[in-house]
Amino acid sequence: MSLELFSLTGKTALITGSSRGLGRAFAEGLAAAGASVILNGTNAQRLETAQNEMSATRMKVKTSLFDVTDEAAIKSAFHEFDQTGTEIDILINNAGIQFRKPMLELDTADWQRVIDTNLTSAFMIGREAAKRMVKRGHGKIVNIGSLTSELARATVAPYTVAKGGIKMLTKAMAAEWAEQGLQANAIGPGYMLTDMNEALTSDPKFDAWVKGRTPARRWGKPEELIGTAIYLCSDASNYVNGQIIYADGGMISVL
Ligand code: NDP
Repeated sequence: MSLELFSLTGKTALITGSSRGLGRAFAEGLAAAGASVILNGTNAQRLETAQNEMSATRMKVKTSLFDVTDEAAIKSAFHEFDQTGTEIDILINNAGIQFRKPMLELDTADWQRVIDTNLTSAFMIGREAAKRMVKRGHGKIVNIGSLTSELARATVAPYTVAKGGIKMLTKAMAAEWAEQGLQANAIGPGYMLTDMNEALTSDPKFDAWVKGRTPARRWGKPEELIGTAIYLCSDASNYVNGQIIYADGGMISVL
């Protein structure tokens, strides 16, 4: 028995939305486990900074600038991977957005934007990656869900719907591609300290609510998701398929 099972040496991982936040933590974790990582985002400056910071610690890192809602841009990114002989062994569909608005004030364009960024993107990028993975007979897809994959919350209706969809998209991917040697699983983070929650962490009422309802009595740190990601991206999870693992300080167990 060897811990080589968790090694990602020789693997290439594309992580969407990885210039900062959870995506950046996933990229650093996978790189530390031996993978070459491709960072993605829409902001070229942020991507370059992340690449420079990671390269400085000898991590193998490239960037791919595209908007995850833009189907033509996704296809063109994968075309470029093909042209440069870059085979994506691991895909983490992480890019996401959230904003708070009651449904009665929400217009359809806002609804669509959240669904496109958090859910349709995972289908479109997953499909491009899986086309290639199926031919090679292996591949790992990890979709980033949320507590809201399971629980509804007021003022985040499209986000909740998208994250519920991520849970079922993950199962659909596993159902369709397991036979070809692919595994698709998901991570459901709890309340994490990232830019996405900046306004909430600085709101004393919300901060107290999170700490009160989370059995761990604190927010999660992005690096606390790395172990789950490495497990799901490595051979250690080869017979795990279609699952969502909640990494949430215990919150989903008590609500
Ligand atoms: P952040 O807002 O901190 O970071 C979001 C990242 O996604 C950035 O790198 C951003 O890139 C990128 N991104 C946003 N829109 C697009 C787009 N259209 N195309 C490409 N990249 C895009 O978010 P978090 O790190 O907090 O969240 C990451 C994921 O985790 C999301 O799916 C989120 O829903 C999920 N999640 C987060 C939780 C939390 O508490 N933070 C809890 C549960 C789930 P750029 O800098 O270029 O804008």
